[in-house]
Parts: sequence; C-alpha cells; structure tokens
Amino acid sequence: MAWSDKSHPHRLLLTKQFPLGLEVVPVFRPVMRAVNRIWNSCVWHSRETFRQENRWPTEAELKTKSKSFAAWCELHSQSAQAVVEEYFEAVSAYRKHRENGHLEMNPPGFKPKDHLRTVTWKRQGFDVEGNTLVLKLSRGKEPVKVVLPEGWDVVVLPDGTEVKGVPVEVKVKAVVRRNVENLVLHVTLDLGVMPVHRAGAVSAYDYNSALVARAVSNGRLDLFVCRELLSLVQYRNKIIAGFQEKMGRLKEGSRRWKRCLSAKVRVLKRLDRCIRQMEHTLTKSFAGLDGAEDVAFAVVGNLRGLRCSARTGMKGKKASQKINHMAYDRLAREQRYKNLMRDIETDTWTEKNTSSTCCLCGARNPAWRRYRGLWVCGRCGLVLQADLNGAANLLKQYLFGSCTGRAEPFTFKEVRVWRWDGRHNRFVQVSPRAA
Ligand SMILES: [Zn+2]
Repeated sequence: MAWSDKSHPHRLLLTKQFPLGLEVVPVFRPVMRAVNRIWNSCVWHSRETFRQENRWPTEAELKTKSKSFAAWCELHSQSAQAVVEEYFEAVSAYRKHRENGHLEMNPPGFKPKDHLRTVTWKRQGFDVEGNTLVLKLSRGKEPVKVVLPEGWDVVVLPDGTEVKGVPVEVKVKAVVRRNVENLVLHVTLDLGVMPVHRAGAVSAYDYNSALVARAVSNGRLDLFVCRELLSLVQYRNKIIAGFQEKMGRLKEGSRRWKRCLSAKVRVLKRLDRCIRQMEHTLTKSFAGLDGAEDVAFAVVGNLRGLRCSARTGMKGKKASQKINHMAYDRLAREQRYKNLMRDIETDTWTEKNTSSTCCLCGARNPAWRRYRGLWVCGRCGLVLQADLNGAANLLKQYLFGSCTGRAEPFTFKEVRVWRWDGRHNRFVQVSPRAA
C-alpha cells in the first residue's frame, strides 16, 4: 500500500496489489512492449535533441513527438501519455542530480526490446463493472478484462472499520523472481478525506541515524533503536560500491558485465525487501503507539534543513554520510499514511535549537550535548539521552512556538526502549539499559 498527498492532505489513497498469474502474461505482453517502445522512442528523441541543440526537450514537445510513434496507437491515450510523463520525470531527476554535482549519474536509457514495462491506466482509461476491471486500449481494440476477488475495493482500517474506495489508477507491473515472471495488478483506491481528531495528545519524533526518539505530551518517552536498519542500509551501500568497482573494470555491455548487473539487481532487490519491511514495521509501531495513546497530532522534524547542512559539509564527512543513509522522506511518508488510517494528523515543524536546548529548564548551550549522545544540563542537572531531549524540545516547540527559555510543563515518565527483534520481525520493548 502506498500513499499520495497530491490532491488533499487528508485524502487517503491506498494501493492494493493483486497477482494476476502466469496465464495472463501473453495478454499483457504486447501492451507492455508497446509502452516500452514509447519509452525507447522518448530516449532516442531526447538524445537526438540533446546532440543537435544541446538541450533536453520539454514534456509538451515529447508528447507531440510521441503521438507519431506507431506504438502510441496501440494504447489508451492516457496510458501512452503516462509513459512520457514517467520518462520526463526521470530526465528531470537526472538533471537535478547533475546540477547538484552528482556527475556519476547516467540519463535514463534504452530498455531491451522484450522488457515488460509497467502500464498505467488513469481514471478515464478503465471502467469498473462489479468485480471486473475493464482496461481500455486504443479505440477499436478489444479492452482487457480482469476479474478481481470479492471485496477488492474495501480496505479495513486498524480500528476494524471497512472503507470502500473508488479506484483512481490501475497499474500492471511485471515482477521477476528467479526468472519466473508474474504480473501484479496495482489498484490505487481513493478512500476519501479522513476525519482527523482536532483534540488529543501531541507526539513528536526525532529521526536520527540509528535512533528515533519519541516524546508525547502525556509524558511518554520512547526510544527506538534502529541499529539493525542502519547497518542494513550501510551494507546495501557497500554492496553497490563493490559492484560498481567490479563493473567499472569490465567492458560495458559485455557478457560478464551483464551477468554482474543482473547479480547486482538480484542482491539489491532482496536487501531492499528487508529494508522496506523493517521500515514498515517501524512506522507501524509509531502509528500504533499514537493510536493507542489518543494522539491527535504527530510531529516530525522538518528534515530539509538537516539535509542541507549535511550537503554543505557543515557536519563533517562521517556525519553527513550517516544522514544521507536512512530514507527519512520515505519513513515520514509511510508514517503519514499509517497515521491517517488511524485519524491522526501528521505535521512537520522546525527542529531549530532542539538539540542544543535543555528540555526541562529551557536553557540553551550547545556544549551540554556530551559525547555518545548524552545531554547533561549545566543549569538544572538533567541527564537524558540527547535524542529524547531533542524530541521533547520539538514537542515544546510545536506547542509553544519555541523550546528555549521555557520550563517543561509535562512530567516525563520512565523511558521505554524498543529494539528490533529479528526472530519475530518486529520492535519489542527491552530494558532501558540495552540502549
Ligand atoms: Zn536544564
């Protein structure tokens, strides 16, 4: 399931997946290949424009150009446009990376002829007839019908209520695992605008490289130890670097190079599944705690400032490396839709001064953040894990505008510490000494 906030901040959009089975591969193969041909044409056309005029074509230009491609006539016009949009997005991302100094990036390239590219059907591209999805192709072509199981458009929220959604987008993706291809249908359902509480407790989250601290206005303090997640992410980067070095020595496009590439993809896919699962469990734990403690607003630090200072090298090489490792944006996004399923609103707030102020008495002194992440206040003598201090300050900042010069109005309870339990694949509470 995934989440999008494009149309409305409280609109819940979830994607459900339905495996289609091998027998439908021949039905979708020509469509997916047509989409792939449009992609390759986009690549070719863009490169030509870049070679001749030293600029990348605009999205409108690409769309006009693509309409003359033969493959365009095989698809529903919106499905064909979606490919161009996807390509344009990829080029924009590439250009942005180049501008930011990532010169090692390559522009989106050609795909093999038999590559099964994802096909998208936008709202006008499909019809719903009971439990059957009618996926339209170009005019005059017979649409593809897919029968879905009963209750395909119903989502059960964590409190047990069932919500019927309106499908807004359908995608057919190919998954390849050990050479066996399968197709998966992704249906994005619009579940409407969720009612969020406007009264209740407030929780604040401080994301750090290996720790996530949580402070709630009811006095709860939680510390999530994410060392396992961080080490997985670091291991992933190490693997990428290893493959890059190996592939750099081989001739691009050679048989050994291709074998290396497919090995890289295989290893990374497996690792990514582990990472994503751990991230989901983490954000689910947050949303679960918030839901159980009647939280109305969950506040996440505004991470943009942190990332910017990391890039300019203000934090030193080691720290910036760590900051760029964990996928904070993705975590925050997941937390957001999981909160929304529990009628909790997620908000971002500035983290300014939160790590250099005492959460108890409000005195500010950056030097009181001692080694190994311990906060020792020189005025009131508070000794607290520094990230918890930061989360408590973020909470204060959100409620009162600023965390400095103000005493803590809550009395904090004992810190709860959570650790990843690899046997049960979830976060469990452990004794505080484990942190
Ligand atoms: Zn203090």
